Amino acid sequence: MAIVGQDVERKDWDTYFMDIAYMVSTRSRCPRRHVGAVLVQGKKLLGTAYNGAPMGVQDCSEAGCMIAEEWEIKQENGEEQMIKKQRCIRTIHAEQNLLLFTDRADREGSTVYVTDQPCWTCANMLANSGIKEVVYHRGYPKDSEKVVTLMGHKGIAFRFLEGYEPPPQAGMSVIS
Ligand SMILES: [Zn+2]
Ligand SMILES: [Zn+2]
Repeated sequence: MAIVGQDVERKDWDTYFMDIAYMVSTRSRCPRRHVGAVLVQGKKLLGTAYNGAPMGVQDCSEAGCMIAEEWEIKQENGEEQMIKKQRCIRTIHAEQNLLLFTDRADREGSTVYVTDQPCWTCANMLANSGIKEVVYHRGYPKDSEKVVTLMGHKGIAFRFLEGYEPPPQAGMSVIS
């Protein structure tokens, strides 16, 4: 008797957990960026989180994004340029929510899969959280250099998941 589905290529663990992170990200109500993060110990899923307003507080879909403007220095053709950037500060970032809703004991030596490369604040918190590895997919160049340096100092593996394709129902274009 033929076993149905036997020919279907089996997902590797990285794809499996990143797919879950992307599905979790669809819960986010910030139209600018849907971020999902999951905590994995061994092959066990110990927590999921996405970016959002605190529980019981109006989110971006109800109250609109809370926009903060800031200037960023960018090198272009050897010249320093000031570029005005906007970001939404209404939400608690996915990585921060993941830390709020998991136990320290569960985090020791664990891996975080996150759809987006962590910002500086999240990376700083992750660096102090007991985790030993971060796997991300979409880049966040603004903080990349200092985040990579920090992870190196802490001996936390920091991996970009190359060649990965998000599930079609979970991918979105990101406003940067
Ligand atoms: Zn927002
Ligand atoms: Zn962050």
